[in-house]
Amino acid sequence: MKTSFKLACVAAAAAVSFGAAAQDFPAANRSVTIVVPFAAGGPTDRVARDLAEAMRKPLGGTSVVIDNAVGAGSSIGTAKVARAAPDGYTLLLNHIAMSTMPSLYRKLSFNVANDFEYLGIINDVPMTLIARPNMPANNYKELAAWIAQNKGKVNLGNAGLGAASHLCGLMFQNAIKTEMTTIAYKGTAPAITDLIGGQIDLLCDQTTNTTSQIEGKKVKAYAVTTSKRLTTPSLKDLPTLAEAGVPNFEVTIWHGLYAPKGTPAPILAKLNEAMKAALKDPEFIKKQEGLGAVVASDKRIEPAEHKKFVQAEIEKWGTVIKAAGTYAD
Ligand code: ASP
Repeated sequence: MKTSFKLACVAAAAAVSFGAAAQDFPAANRSVTIVVPFAAGGPTDRVARDLAEAMRKPLGGTSVVIDNAVGAGSSIGTAKVARAAPDGYTLLLNHIAMSTMPSLYRKLSFNVANDFEYLGIINDVPMTLIARPNMPANNYKELAAWIAQNKGKVNLGNAGLGAASHLCGLMFQNAIKTEMTTIAYKGTAPAITDLIGGQIDLLCDQTTNTTSQIEGKKVKAYAVTTSKRLTTPSLKDLPTLAEAGVPNFEVTIWHGLYAPKGTPAPILAKLNEAMKAALKDPEFIKKQEGLGAVVASDKRIEPAEHKKFVQAEIEKWGTVIKAAGTYAD
């Protein structure tokens, strides 16, 4: 057989088997894995677990499981998905870190624009500024005074360089012109445990992690990071940071779903349809809204718009990060 003919046969066979794999996706005997690049029990994990449950039915009953691949502000788990087989069985759920990592890390083993297929935005989540339960301050004004009195001694937790808590903390330190000692965790689940235990002073974290701790009075809450107050009953009395005295402060965290680059289009279409069905699932909406999140229903639930949105966010946060002069190797 001539080499060129042989190659053509191999290519045709590969196309047929890929086509068949796409048609059969998801196979009855396989589960879909969503990689979460932060610790189990934290806010990103919570969104992923609710989504996994809601996607099971639209994926024909296929089980959707979570793999917490943690560390380095989500860059470890994100890299894992960039290298995964592009067959639809390994996905990534990550947040705003997809737009901060390109400016924060001098070296990344993946390219956010080129190494992923974009499946859609899941939700937008506000953040809250919280403190250890024995913090003497009872409102933001008192907290600002306490921070000023304790300059050089204040500890602020985060989930690593590039995490939402890191970004929020960075903006907060810049806004009040006070440097704090930052303590990096593998997610804000372990960070909030240490906050409750009094090992750290402050944390800025998504309401999906902080609402129940605020309700249970396990932490003290001072403000929300959005431009408007929230409607969630237990959070509605919290002022915005801007109202409390930190002008122009606004951070909202979004989460998106991704597949490795090269995943066949028919599989991407099935995954996007399953994701969109999950976003309309009343149970999913109820759970997310109860934690202060707003489930996406705008054009960003379409892959092309998701990608455009992330590109705009990369530019927006790149400016903030460059001005702050923070980098990691
Ligand atoms: N909330 C974390 C962050 O700061 C991530 C997490 O633990 O889910 O980005």
